[in-house]
Amino acid sequence: MTTSHPAAMAASNANAERSLREEFRRRFGVEPRIFRAPGRVNLIGEHTDYNQGYAMPAAIEFSTWVAIAPRDDAELHISSLNLGEERIFGSDETVPAHDWTDYVRGVAHVLGAGHGTRAGANVVLWGNVPLGAGLSSSASLEVATAVALLGISDCELDREEIALLCQRAENEFVGARCGVMDQFIAAHGEAGHGLLLDCRSLQYKLVPLPSELTIVIANTMIKHRIAGGEYNRRRAECEEGVSILQRFLPGIRALRDVSLEQLEEHRAELPPVLYRRCRHVISENARVLRFAAALRSGDCSGAGELMLASHESLRNDYEVSCRELDTLVSLAQKAPGTAGSRMTGGGFGGCTVSLVRNAKVAEFQDAVAEEYNRIFGVRPEMYTTHAAAGAGEVTREE
Ligand code: ADP
Ligand code: MG
Repeated sequence: MTTSHPAAMAASNANAERSLREEFRRRFGVEPRIFRAPGRVNLIGEHTDYNQGYAMPAAIEFSTWVAIAPRDDAELHISSLNLGEERIFGSDETVPAHDWTDYVRGVAHVLGAGHGTRAGANVVLWGNVPLGAGLSSSASLEVATAVALLGISDCELDREEIALLCQRAENEFVGARCGVMDQFIAAHGEAGHGLLLDCRSLQYKLVPLPSELTIVIANTMIKHRIAGGEYNRRRAECEEGVSILQRFLPGIRALRDVSLEQLEEHRAELPPVLYRRCRHVISENARVLRFAAALRSGDCSGAGELMLASHESLRNDYEVSCRELDTLVSLAQKAPGTAGSRMTGGGFGGCTVSLVRNAKVAEFQDAVAEEYNRIFGVRPEMYTTHAAAGAGEVTREE
């Protein structure tokens, strides 16, 4: 994938829709309806979702498109143009296949059981969210599938319910232990806005992003194998931290309920590693709120400093960064036009997110990519975007 200017991005998105529509017609001889849901980048608030805290994701201008038409029978025919694979499932096949089709079938299963959406459909999909890079191609596929199945079944569900059902599909059918943030932002994103999400109550506020800043995502091009195991271990460490702290603070349910002062007060009761894990989560929650306030008051450099502090906390206290991520962040800090930069997503590889002054984006990309390539022998892919809209139906351009 190459970098692109917003106008070029819009043109390429329109091309994606057109080619998908043509491909669907060629295969099935009927006009499909097309639905889309975006990937996301988390601007700040990492590893806070499962601690019932705060995060601020934004939807990106990279999406999954689902072309769909009902079938007369109850079969689900699914094709991914990205993978060049087509698969057929009968209505009696209810067990996961342990591959990409589970994201679609999991959503169909959950929606069919709870809301009576149609079982039989022809589905052709394509996406330009990079797969497995931490930009949530999985949630974009799930939410696009959900709005598509609801659309052809004349069912309406509110966006929060769509997000929760898609999360359930990923947890129960795909078998991945994820929070609800990715599906929530794919369903609720607004152009030009970050979404300040309270992961406990699911209340949210849209926060306008300064128009002079572009979001630049840089891909380390690696994913260290320990990522999955470490993620589960961090979750367990947080749970253990809460159960120790509960002995002294009986009212708490999650790290979300603990202040930094309370943590310091009970520091001696916690093993040093658990103390640092808790300190990351608690300080990160506070940073998210301060980040939103900085953006609201147009304080770009204040927001940038909070991104950097988030990265340092993830590196030193939570220990989920790696050399490639640290290098991208320090190169970004030295590059022209940077307001702030940090790792984004679970860590151990994947991407960084930077906020860069519009006029400096090209220079920023060249400087960071060249130096990263010199050090690691691989060019990082870069995706530039502004915050985009959430899921919906794509109406046909005449
Ligand atoms: P991420 O969500 O960070 O991109 P995941 O591992 O959670 O990474 O999800 C990626 C998986 O989602 C892919 O390996 C694939 O199974 C599925 N997926 C996403 N988009 C598509 C697509 N366009 N076609 C087929 N499978 C897809
Ligand atoms: Mg995912």
